Amino acid sequence: MDQPMLAHYIDGRAWAPAEPRVGDVYNPATGEVARQVALAATGDVERVVASAANAAPAWAATSLAKRTQVLFKFRELLSARADEVAALITGEHGKVLSDARGEVIRGLEVAEFACGIPHLLKGSYSANASTDVDVYSLRQPLGVCAVISPFNFPAMVPLWFVPIAIACGNAVVLKPSEKDPSAANLIAQLWTEAGLPDGVLNVVHGDKEAVDALLNHPDVASVSFVGSTPIAKYVYETATANGKRVQALGGAKNHMLVLPDADLDLAADAAVNAGFGSAGERCMAISALVAVEPVADELIAKIRERMAGLRTGDGTRGTDMGPLVTGAHRDKVTAYVAAGSDAGADLVVDGRDGTFDGSDTGFWLGPTLFDRVTPEMSIYRDEIFGPVLSVVRVASYDEGVALINANPYGNGTAIFTNDGGAARRFQNEATVGMIGINVPIPVPVAYYSFGGWKDSLFGDTHAHGTEGVHFFTRGKVVTSRWLDPSHGGINLGFPQT
Ligand code: NAD
Repeated sequence: MDQPMLAHYIDGRAWAPAEPRVGDVYNPATGEVARQVALAATGDVERVVASAANAAPAWAATSLAKRTQVLFKFRELLSARADEVAALITGEHGKVLSDARGEVIRGLEVAEFACGIPHLLKGSYSANASTDVDVYSLRQPLGVCAVISPFNFPAMVPLWFVPIAIACGNAVVLKPSEKDPSAANLIAQLWTEAGLPDGVLNVVHGDKEAVDALLNHPDVASVSFVGSTPIAKYVYETATANGKRVQALGGAKNHMLVLPDADLDLAADAAVNAGFGSAGERCMAISALVAVEPVADELIAKIRERMAGLRTGDGTRGTDMGPLVTGAHRDKVTAYVAAGSDAGADLVVDGRDGTFDGSDTGFWLGPTLFDRVTPEMSIYRDEIFGPVLSVVRVASYDEGVALINANPYGNGTAIFTNDGGAARRFQNEATVGMIGINVPIPVPVAYYSFGGWKDSLFGDTHAHGTEGVHFFTRGKVVTSRWLDPSHGGINLGFPQT
């Protein structure tokens, strides 16, 4: 098969070694191989990191005014070409065009936040902290920062990190998912067009070999990883053992707790949007709906009504939900549907029976709803990452919160209620990093930080917002004395006055 091949992006242009190992990139709506992508060998990663290390010092020394000009220009270019990036995402990930555009816009918001870097990097200054001694703080870049991203947000997740790392004066090596790699190259090209010096952002494509080369490279100062929990844990353990600063965001199982006093129409809309948007391939998707009795029957009836109107099909045709990312992933999700049914859950809507607006060979599975799911079933326990919503019935608020808190994941959760006191208790009691109150997908805006608890994040620092600025810089405190006329004197004690 003779397919076009996506190359790495280094020093402001595409580059690939003569005969690289390659991976297939599918169009999930047709099931066909759309292109191939170069998969970096360790030596290729060496070259990419060397380019970034070479570019980093001059970029770190570039004034805030000049860095900000590049950021503003990048923001304008990305905004102008958002539809182009979205089309690439739909063509490789499968999510519908409006949703692909939405993720570009959420990423763009981080670039907008990073435009305020002169303010964000301001240190503090204490005049005359001791007699004639001034003390002040600086934050300085780390050097070369690696960003390793998952398939489900090929633009937004890289943009959680890249603009802030660059704004802070670092050089970045981005390793996107090999399943949908094209958006990363276009975004890198826009940075070059915005005036970013060559080498400050390089993109290296690849799989485990490329990731391992980054985790073990002595010139890589930090790793920002987003992906499944086992790989996040591996990345965290390997890179911290190598002395790197690491934030490794993992998988999720997000619960939506519906109390009896909730607006059930609002809750049903939210469950459908958050359960089936992007075919459930969102780390903040709702996959477990916890209904506090007696609402389950009425809520499920409303959800079924809404599911009946959903159109699954090719994301370029104005459908509501697209295909799954690969055939292997679709088969894995389908196997979970069979397992849930075998385990005794009520299969209320079976997505395997769906009709699909698209090619017969697309990676289809329709929205699927289970009722009477119990915590020991694999459809509850595991992150399925597909359009499968499980209803768990509980008798009380306390039982619902206990279930959520017993779950090893802690990315996002939501409560639906009209009782402010219950919502307030929930925000304090849930052991989860991002809480929605009558909001099913509480992804924080760019100037707050995104991150989960427990098995959903390894490391301390969340993504973007001020925590992002903190992650991509390290602090320094300067104690200075300028005397006129200069004089010294011997005193072996700490200065106290
Ligand atoms: P993944 O873990 O398979 O891949 C993530 C990255 O790791 C990719 O760049 C991939 O090339 C690389 N990788 C894969 N296998 C590897 C290995 N054995 N060793 C080293 N690197 C490896 O995840 P995915 O399937 O691309 O993305 C979906 C997962 O990401 C879900 O679990 C989802 O919850 C999670 N996710 C989490 C967040 C969050 O913010 N917590 C956001 C988006 C996605």
